[in-house]
Amino acid sequence: MDQIKIGKFIAECRKKVNLTQMQLAEILGITDRAISKWETGKSMPDASIMLQLCGVLGITVNDLLSGEVVAMDRYNKELEHNLLEIVSQKQRADKRLLTAEVFIGSTATAVLLIFIFLAAFVKMELWLRISLIVFGFVLFLAGCFYALRIEQVAGYYACRECGHRYVPTYKAVNSAPHMGRTRYMRCPECGKKSWQKKVLSQE
Ligand SMILES: [Zn+2]
Repeated sequence: MDQIKIGKFIAECRKKVNLTQMQLAEILGITDRAISKWETGKSMPDASIMLQLCGVLGITVNDLLSGEVVAMDRYNKELEHNLLEIVSQKQRADKRLLTAEVFIGSTATAVLLIFIFLAAFVKMELWLRISLIVFGFVLFLAGCFYALRIEQVAGYYACRECGHRYVPTYKAVNSAPHMGRTRYMRCPECGKKSWQKKVLSQE
């Protein structure tokens, strides 16, 4: 998707319906800064606001994502193209999240080890020693929580038995035994337990 083209198109449609950035912002209940960001291609309208925006501008979501009014004979083709683009964007975002998870996990572990090392070998008052260890554990647990949260929402788990791919609950991810990213969980589709691999695509 071409964000610059989409931005220019939004500006063009807005002028066609005789609205200033400020007026459009007021209708949508957002800031005019957000609209200026869309129109300069710096960001995309949020999914939660897209339908309302298109309604005001008198275009379809397909038009918006294409950055132009899509002619009827190309409509389905363009729609498919936009859908595929969205799916591949999610996959790229998930990949980045999973890389961040490794970073968060290893940083949290390193910080905990450093704090324990300091508390054990550096001369200091007892209260400081205890605080360091407690603080280290709190950071470590926070790191684990975020890492696990990413593990849950980024990508999908694939059932080994029936091939079903799904996003599990936080509780299921948290309580499942794991080796790396592969988790032993019950499949919501076939109900069997198996070692489920993390995959980036739903199919
Ligand atoms: Zn299954």
